[in-house]
Amino acid sequence: MKTDTIAAIATAVSDSGIGIIRVSGENAIEIVDKIYQSKNRKKRLCEVKTHTIHYGFIYDEDTLIDEVMIAVLHAPNTYTREETVEIDCHGGILVMNQILDVLLRSGCRLAEPGEFTKRAFLNGRIDLSKAEAVMDIIHSKNEFALRSSVRQLSGAVTEKVQFLREEILYEIAYIESALDDPEHISLDGYRERLEEKVKNIKSILKKLIDSADCGKMLKDGINTVIIGKPNVGKSSLLNILVGEDRAIVTSVAGTTRDVLEETIKLHGVGLNIMDTAGIHDTADEVEKIGVDRARKYARNADLILYVVDTSRELDENDDAIMELAASKNMIVLLNKSDLDHVVNPEEVIKKLTLMSENENNKMTCVSENNNIEMTQMSFFDEEKQGDTKKTDTRVIIKNNRKIRIISTSIKENIGLDDLEDAIKDMFFGGEISINDELYITNQRHKEAFLEAYESMEMVQDSLIKDMPEDFYSIDLMSAYASLGKIIGEEVGEDLVNEIFSKFCMGK
Ligand code: GDP
Repeated sequence: MKTDTIAAIATAVSDSGIGIIRVSGENAIEIVDKIYQSKNRKKRLCEVKTHTIHYGFIYDEDTLIDEVMIAVLHAPNTYTREETVEIDCHGGILVMNQILDVLLRSGCRLAEPGEFTKRAFLNGRIDLSKAEAVMDIIHSKNEFALRSSVRQLSGAVTEKVQFLREEILYEIAYIESALDDPEHISLDGYRERLEEKVKNIKSILKKLIDSADCGKMLKDGINTVIIGKPNVGKSSLLNILVGEDRAIVTSVAGTTRDVLEETIKLHGVGLNIMDTAGIHDTADEVEKIGVDRARKYARNADLILYVVDTSRELDENDDAIMELAASKNMIVLLNKSDLDHVVNPEEVIKKLTLMSENENNKMTCVSENNNIEMTQMSFFDEEKQGDTKKTDTRVIIKNNRKIRIISTSIKENIGLDDLEDAIKDMFFGGEISINDELYITNQRHKEAFLEAYESMEMVQDSLIKDMPEDFYSIDLMSAYASLGKIIGEEVGEDLVNEIFSKFCMGK
């Protein structure tokens, strides 16, 4: 374990009121004491009580550098569990750098990114998932991400992992003891018990793994791509959602040649909205690149907003767009509802599902495409706060995904509330319960949960095949190890270094 003393600027390196320089390690107090003078020049930091703050000055030999407040924190009740000093100085870039420079000349080493938190982890104050949460708090882009990271820091993931590991360890110990001492510990009826336990653990793991997709979107924002043919109202939609004229809106087709991206907030969650070039066959080389890019973005989208100009006939370009978006979460906006329409919802629904009505008047799938598992159509006649406004939202379910069809006039600001409701409903079942649910937001954790899940499947498999008991313990052991990776118990130095290298300086 490193015992050298490290120092770094902990606040932003930009001119501000106050800057904090952090020093941690065996000689932290002694080093700062060398460059510090109290007002009466009598107080020595080595002699003051722990967790106290002291007024004074920092000197570079005889040159006064700044007037400061210094927090002296003795181990172990510090962030790193080491001797720590925090210097509150003025927040100018030059003054902070000068103080740091004197510290480095007086015996400190410049801290690596994340090294303070790494020390907190190596000294056992926090586990790896909590250390990662620290970074996530700093980088939180929205309210959800922040709350979720704070929950992780306060131990939500750790608790879940520890619970699962204890459950698994109990079974490993039971099997091992029974195999060692068959006279006293019986394995009669054990398989049934284990089967039940494995089922239960698998279902907890599955829920956590499933939460990861949603968790990622909630943390990083829902990647929302607006697609449609040229001139249908895509840029107008982006502008109205963002609330400013970001995209150029003209009646000339093909104005958005590249992809414009903006982030908006919807109920505390971010939507990264991308306006793309109109998808259509074009000979224009530049436009072609834009169209290809639009397709690429659509393929990677979490949500597609497909805009249709209902005053113009659908054509083969719409077919191509529907094909492209078929397996995605999609909301179709039947736009320009203020104009006479030639496209109606039924036509779009039919195209989307390739359905026809059978003799019982029920919608059934007639597609040769086996992807369509089930299709169903419903109309919502919602009562909105007393008045009986009919929302024009229609929902079809395809490939287990809901596709919503909404009538809008972006020009006249009609239907945009329905769009907001549809997004809310689509991703959060109408409610965003960011307080109670545990969402996995870290890809590394998701992979470890997946590994553990696969090992539990192997245990289940061995049970079905009636394999000897030691087979169970091997896979239980690897599930135990996979879960350990999340809290940092089974990870190598390389991974630890990689994780902390992503941290910022001074943390
Ligand atoms: P894009 O090429 O799909 O991005 O389309 P734009 O947003 O540039 O819009 C093309 C034209 O359609 C512009 O003249 C808009 O003002 C107009 N437009 C957009 N939405 C509506 C709408 O709901 N109703 C009507 N009448 N015109 C609209």
